[in-house]
Amino acid sequence: MYKAISRRFRPRTFSEVTGQEACVTTLKHALQQKKVAHAYLFSGIRGTGKTTLARILAKALNCDAPKEGFDPCDECPSCQEIAKGQSLNVIEIDGASNRGIEDIRALNETLSYATSEKKFKIFIIDEVHMLTKEAFNALLKPLEEPPSHVKFFFATTELDKVLPTILSRCQRFQLTRIPRAKIMQKLRKVASELSVEIDDASLSFLAKVSEGSLRDAETLFDQIHNVEGPITLPLLLDILGYPAKDDFFALDDAYHTNDLGFAFTLTQKILNSSKNQQLFLESLLEHYRTIALLFFKKDYALNLTPEEEEGYQKALSIYTKEEVLFLLDSLPKILFPPLKPKLLSLHMEMLLLHIIQSKNRLRIDQIIHRLETLQKELPLEKLAPTIAPPKEILLEKVSIATPKEAPSIENQVVPPPSAPLATPAAPSKAKSAVELETLLRFAQVELNGTLTRSK
Ligand SMILES: [Zn+2]
Repeated sequence: MYKAISRRFRPRTFSEVTGQEACVTTLKHALQQKKVAHAYLFSGIRGTGKTTLARILAKALNCDAPKEGFDPCDECPSCQEIAKGQSLNVIEIDGASNRGIEDIRALNETLSYATSEKKFKIFIIDEVHMLTKEAFNALLKPLEEPPSHVKFFFATTELDKVLPTILSRCQRFQLTRIPRAKIMQKLRKVASELSVEIDDASLSFLAKVSEGSLRDAETLFDQIHNVEGPITLPLLLDILGYPAKDDFFALDDAYHTNDLGFAFTLTQKILNSSKNQQLFLESLLEHYRTIALLFFKKDYALNLTPEEEEGYQKALSIYTKEEVLFLLDSLPKILFPPLKPKLLSLHMEMLLLHIIQSKNRLRIDQIIHRLETLQKELPLEKLAPTIAPPKEILLEKVSIATPKEAPSIENQVVPPPSAPLATPAAPSKAKSAVELETLLRFAQVELNGTLTRSK
């Protein structure tokens, strides 16, 4: 029977645990001092080793021949039984499927029975936050006054859903996301044991997309470890349904040349391929995030391949910082809520058009700069005393402007034909006033857009 990699390579002793050094050190110290608490709560995101640590601690407590450093031997009958899930002294309960009070009552009834050979009776409750309130309450009594041979190890992905009364009775460990380098190290070991040839760029990618969850990384590795021949990044991306980086670099080029047609070309290419559209959209955001990182945090270790390095260096010359920030700000708002399958291609096209077209956008700082320049050239108060200074108009009126109110700005700004502005004696000033009016209209549209977006 096939056994998933995450189970096959699950750590059996403290020394095999990936990451979580602080937790491991504290637990070993408690074992050494014989001061193991009667209840522990391990919290953290999925796949960071919560139940694994609970199991290893259970093994260590009941091990017949602990190794140096209080690591369980993993060989004695007790360790073997726990590893196989056959120990009568270590009982694992899945909070998600045994949620009710009856389950906890049944558990409570077994507490008073003494264990064989002076072993600890250990209850490991996974996803403890899923228990019903009644079940939680039934747990409180044994937690408050547990028999000396009883231990409770809880695990949860949602700490905030665990009742405070339970929390206050446990020693807590907040497990951290596992660093990329450590995930890569573990995957490299797995690859070597399974004789899978895979390059560092691929390992780095797997570590990155699993976001600190070793199990997620191993599950992805499950999908590729049977592939013939060496695994390289382009092959990996293809198997997992991720878009190729080259598509994004081509989009950068389209942005540069303002080639709007590329939006349709790329959408068709993605839809006609085996690529996962959701992954494409997520990767698109990631692409702009990478550019922003390169702009603002040059020392950030991105683990780029030489080809990616080249592509991103080019991207840095295509976009300005402000343009990238604009895209990072506006894209998530277009991407969410999630796409309707029927409108997917249209949605993707609109998104890509938005990106490419945004190059022609008139930026607010440009508008303000031009307004300020104009203000200096034109002594507004002399020309038309009823006109407020441009900045005040923008701030006061636009902040409350709705589409219906909008014309009122126009009315204020546009001088009547009889105003001195339009007299033949001042043609250049009249021209400037027209220019000012045009600019103000731009500013109004742009600011309205900004305000609408920021709502
Ligand atoms: Zn042992």
